[in-house]
Amino acid sequence: MSKTAICPGSFDPITGGHLDIIRRSAKLFDRVIVVVMSNYRKVNNSCFSVDERMELIRRCTKDLPNVEVDCDFGLLAEYARRKNADVIVKGLRAVSDFEDEFQQALTNKKLNSAVETVFMAAGAENMFLSSSMIKQVCRLGGDVTPFLPEEVSSDIIDRLRETE
Ligand code: ADP
Repeated sequence: MSKTAICPGSFDPITGGHLDIIRRSAKLFDRVIVVVMSNYRKVNNSCFSVDERMELIRRCTKDLPNVEVDCDFGLLAEYARRKNADVIVKGLRAVSDFEDEFQQALTNKKLNSAVETVFMAAGAENMFLSSSMIKQVCRLGGDVTPFLPEEVSSDIIDRLRETE
């Protein structure tokens, strides 16, 4: 039976770590929906609009035919229900991610028992990567090119420098 996975996040902006999780999910599942959740935690500090975030994700996943990009403003468990999703994929970087992610997984299971949360270990080279770290380093003049997907790195960097 065909399996649908959701990769949710704020993706503000997408990093090499996010893309690694999306690519690996695309190998495991028939259909992958990357969903920009605009209610997602750091909402007030967002740098890129939801449309910009979606466009950046589309540009670096265009070679993956089973990946689509969407956004949502509500509850992830409800979104998963509407999409008939089987799995929510979350990337885990370190123990520090675990408690919060575990709590979210249990909550989502209560709200929608049809969906399973699967944790994927971050690639060793991405363990320290986060959108907020990239924003901070870039604003202070550091080169963040290696941490960003190649297709979108210069646009992200230009945009972050503009909004300094
Ligand atoms: P961030 O913490 O960078 O703001 P998001 O909130 O957009 O990221 O996270 C979306 C998903 O991507 C979460 O499941 C998160 O654990 C995962 N993720 C974020 N950064 C990485 C990374 N460097 N490697 C693997 N997974 C990651």
